[in-house]
Amino acid sequence: MDKSNIVKEYTNGEITVVWQAGKCIHSANCVRHLANVFQPKTSPWIKMENGSSAEIRATVEMCPSGALTLKS
Ligand code: SF4
Repeated sequence: MDKSNIVKEYTNGEITVVWQAGKCIHSANCVRHLANVFQPKTSPWIKMENGSSAEIRATVEMCPSGALTLKS
């Protein structure tokens, strides 16, 4: 399946994470840094309720590809 156009948003009501599937290089930085939130084998793969906004923001900023960004 061509996932290059898939864009998904995940929010906890405070911050919104945007994931652009086509940009993800599967470096797994996010998974290593915050495994409770970023769980690629489950759905939804980003579990916003499992981390604080500060933790999630810090992890999004570590994404090397730009696949993860914050909406606001
Ligand atoms: S850190 Fe970014 S590029 Fe790496 S797996 Fe996570 S979303 Fe994909």
